[in-house]
Order: sequence, then C-alpha cells, then structure tokens
Amino acid sequence: MILDKTISAVVTGGASGLGAATARALAQRDVKVAIFDLDRDRGSSLADELGGCYCEADVTDEKSIIDALASARRWHGQERILVNCAGIVTGSRTAGRSKDKSNIWAHDLAVFAKVINVNLIGTFNVGSKSAAGIMGLDPITPDGGRGVIINTSSIAAVEGQVGQAAYSASKGGVASLTLPMARDLSREGIRVMSIMPGLFHTPMFDGLPEEIRDNLGAGVPFPTRLGRGDEYASLVMHIIENDMLNGENIRIDGALRLAPK
Ligand code: NAP
Repeated sequence: MILDKTISAVVTGGASGLGAATARALAQRDVKVAIFDLDRDRGSSLADELGGCYCEADVTDEKSIIDALASARRWHGQERILVNCAGIVTGSRTAGRSKDKSNIWAHDLAVFAKVINVNLIGTFNVGSKSAAGIMGLDPITPDGGRGVIINTSSIAAVEGQVGQAAYSASKGGVASLTLPMARDLSREGIRVMSIMPGLFHTPMFDGLPEEIRDNLGAGVPFPTRLGRGDEYASLVMHIIENDMLNGENIRIDGALRLAPK
C-alpha cells in the first residue's frame, strides 16, 4: 500500500513510546492519524502537533472502541491501517516465598487477567472492529488490498523471563492470533502482521535508573543498546508498504535472546 494523504490510520497506545513514534512516522507521510489512548493530555497534545485527532479509548472496553472508531472515522474517514501498540507490563512469579520464607503466595489472578485483558483481548477487540470497517472500503492495491493491521507482540512471547508468565502469555496470544486473523481476512484483502520488539527505550523504561537501562542495553549483541521508537516505526512503514508481508511475526531485537532472568 502506498502511504499518502488519502489514507487514514488508527494507532492504539499512540500517546506514548512505540505508538507515538508510529503516529509521527505516519503523519510524516501525510497519513491522517487518530491516536487512541487513555492519556488525554499526552494524546491530544501529540494529535495537535501532528494535525491528527485524539480519541479517548480503552482497548478493553467494547463500547469505548466502537465510539472511538466512529469518532475517528467522522474526522478522517474509514481507516485502512490499524497499529495496535496499547499495552501494559507487570512482573510477578507464578508462586513465591517471602524473604524470611515464612509466607508462601500465589500470583494474583486479577493481575494476570488484567494483563491478558489489555494486551491480548484489547488487541483483538480493536482489530476485529477495525477489520469490519476496512471491509466496507474499495480495494486500492493491484492485488485487491484494502488495508493492514499490525499488532505488537514481544520477544517475551517466546522467551518469557522469571516473573513474566502473564505478560508472555498475553504476547504469545498476540503472536498466535496473527496467522488465523490473516487467514480470516485474506478474502477481504486485509493483511495482518505482528512485530515482536526486543528492548526499546520508551517511557516504560524511564522509571528505571540509567545504570539499569544501560545494563539492559549492554546485553543486546548488536547494536549494543536499547532500540529506538523510530526503528520500530520504520518496520511498521515497511510492513504497510510491502504487500507480500502477511500472517507473520517479525522480531526486531538486535539478536537479543532473553535469559531466564
Ligand atoms: P508505553 O510507552 O507505556 O505506551 C503504551 C501506551 O498504551 C500508553 O500510552 C498507555 O497509556 C496505553 N494504554 C495502556 N492501557 C491501555 C488501554 N486499556 N487502552 C488504551 N491505551 C492503553 O509502552 P511502549 O514501550 O511504547 O509499548 C508499546 C507496546 O509495545 C506494548 O504493547 C508493549 O507491551 C510492547 N513492547 C514494548 C517493548 C519495549 O521494550 N518498550 C518491548 C516489547 C513489546 P497509559 O500510559 O495511560 O497507561
């Protein structure tokens, strides 16, 4: 698909990190961008800067997404591109002991369910509703392509570390969705891809001391550093523009393979 001012896009989690970098890259190619996020202040200020629109949206809530898609489509017309970047991260072992070993506990199920709800169910909630909208558009590529959906998994989908049972399960679910979604939507000319980032410097990492950030980056074989949002966004642009990419999960990680901890 060729990117230009006739195309509109929705980016979930678009107010921050990888989603914000993607929104910027799309706007640089004149695409009309709708930012879906919980954070009204950051979302509207980026939308103003990019000449796009901000829609307050909770990816876990069906009505919120139906309303946000309707609002984005009023502003920009039906989107042809959806990039799902909304996500949360948590860490807790499956079961553990207190330091003095007197207390044994199990993973909080509500925390596990929340991560699955945001990262996996939220991705499918927006993806399925966006796909239904894209199906109403005329094809625009020589092969009959109508649109592209790109989800964000993680290398933790296949190399989950200690404490990542919930996060890895959610991202494994996103990776597993890719092929059946692509198959479901193939007759409609809608491609579905997922990106599996390694370690990227986003606000998710800003809370960590610089020394820990540097240590994380030092474990990446090459380039030996954390990834940047614009590198993730550049892969998104390539996936959109390369019509042969479909039904696959692509790692972007500088050859990093996560150790157990
Ligand atoms: P980020 O900077 O924290 O951005 C995530 C955005 O999603 C935030 O603006 C967040 O809003 C929003 N969000 C959270 N829950 C939401 C919900 N229910 N509805 C709508 N928006 C919601 O994180 P990031 O690093 O850019 O991560 C983007 C995606 O990449 C995530 O799915 C993450 O798991 C994945 N990923 C990141 C890395 C990395 O190294 N950074 C690696 C692998 C995969 P609030 O801030 O208000 O919560």
